[in-house]
Amino acid sequence: MSADFGRLNEEISSVEPYADLLHVDVMDGHFVPNLTIGAPVVKWIKTKLPKECHLMMDNPEKYLEDFAKAGADIITVHKEVCPKLADVTARIRALKVRAGVSINPETPVEVIIDLLDCVDLVLIMSVHPGFGGQKFIESSLEKIRAIRKKAPGIDIAVDGGINAETAKMCVEAGANVLVAGSYIFGAEDRKKAIESLRG
Ligand code: ZN
Repeated sequence: MSADFGRLNEEISSVEPYADLLHVDVMDGHFVPNLTIGAPVVKWIKTKLPKECHLMMDNPEKYLEDFAKAGADIITVHKEVCPKLADVTARIRALKVRAGVSINPETPVEVIIDLLDCVDLVLIMSVHPGFGGQKFIESSLEKIRAIRKKAPGIDIAVDGGINAETAKMCVEAGANVLVAGSYIFGAEDRKKAIESLRG
């Protein structure tokens, strides 16, 4: 969401040689107070990078096929709108897509801690979702530690307020995927910005 949507493929090309993953923020203007893009746009994204679609939306289960067809390699849904998470992630996996779950800053980690077997990735929101360029919420680190302790092999991603300093804190807590938007797309040298996150 931090890239220039009018030149999306060009923007993606500028980071493709340095990044490991493309994180696509899908917002519905209801679950979060902002709108971005949906599956019809994701379909036109040209990249060699794996695409993670982070569905910040109500009723994500209605759109899983659309995002799978649009080329998602990972589909991440929010626990807050998926009371039956295991059913939703089973449907994602049946589409041959990896399943992720995300929780907002005010959602306690306890709501997913016993459900880690049914997901491939946990995405900790370290800002209130909806807008880029926000400050990292430090209590996110506790959540990362709790998940890493319970599931040593799972992918733990952190989304929001990531820069060289917070990246280090997240990795030390046990995260292995860092989602950075404005820190990279707002940088003079995007390659350098990505490298600084690797430490
Ligand atoms: Zn995101």
